[in-house]
Amino acid sequence: MEIKQVMVIGAGQMGSGIAQVCAAGGYDVFLHDLEESLTEQGKQGIKERLEREVEKERISDADKERILRRIQPSTDLSNAENVDIVIEAAVENMEVKKNLFQQLDNRAPAHAILATNTSSLPITEIAAMTKRAEKVIGMHFMNPVPIMKLVEIIRGLQTSDETYKAVAEMASSLKKTSVEVNDFPGFVSNRILMPMINEAIFTLYEGVSSAEDIDEVMKLGMNHPMGPITLADFIGLDTCLYIMETLHNELGDDKYRPCPLLRKYVKAGWLGKKSGRGFYAYD
Ligand code: NAD
Repeated sequence: MEIKQVMVIGAGQMGSGIAQVCAAGGYDVFLHDLEESLTEQGKQGIKERLEREVEKERISDADKERILRRIQPSTDLSNAENVDIVIEAAVENMEVKKNLFQQLDNRAPAHAILATNTSSLPITEIAAMTKRAEKVIGMHFMNPVPIMKLVEIIRGLQTSDETYKAVAEMASSLKKTSVEVNDFPGFVSNRILMPMINEAIFTLYEGVSSAEDIDEVMKLGMNHPMGPITLADFIGLDTCLYIMETLHNELGDDKYRPCPLLRKYVKAGWLGKKSGRGFYAYD
């Protein structure tokens, strides 16, 4: 099947990045969120990133304009009536995603693929909300989307080979490398990454060391490009908590118990870089 028109749901840090790489890859994109101010904010972020690319002479000014023209803000879900694929990147909450997929199933044309950028939620359960489980798939981009090369493609129980192939081809047209993963909590990436981040937060919580020194140990000692506490702030502490809760609930092992300090920060609204304050302060 040919994919031309994309709808990205959620204009936050992931959704705006996905819309940017899709537009740069030649697709027409609806960037959808709950309010116009959010889609505008998402589009403004894309504009600023592209302007930096122009300054560094990686793209021309005409390229920038062409990419921006391909992105159309949307607050009306009925725009899904005209798309070939939806990539959902709304908040990491099962109820929100189930509700969206039900509505999208009613609106999107029969041929359209419904993909989710979920970090950890079961694709099979999301697919069960629709009458097209064979066309539902996980398309898990990494943060920041324009820079990170990987897309984890997650097959739900009923995802068809045709859907998998179309999504893998799209990922490669976006100059990403994809890997095929089965539908288990946290997939591969967050099954491994998130317990490490959670353990780093426990290490801070138990007073073993400071946030700066924990990050330093993992950067200089383990050759990680970014320390786990900083990475948690970049991912978003709410997203980290949702993922740990999914691992804990679905896999049932105490080793996945979210650190109380992570819970406390999320309750305080300290969500990391996106809210200006997490384990570190940002201005
Ligand atoms: P974010 O908080 O930056 O953005 C989420 C956006 O979704 C917000 O703009 C919000 O208004 C919008 N939204 C919420 N409910 C909506 C609805 N019903 N309809 C339309 N829009 C809605 O979050 P994010 O970091 O961009 O994460 C989005 C998704 O991507 C989550 O599922 C997350 O797990 C996943 N993800 C995140 C990362 C990461 O590093 N942050 C990496 C990979 C995947």
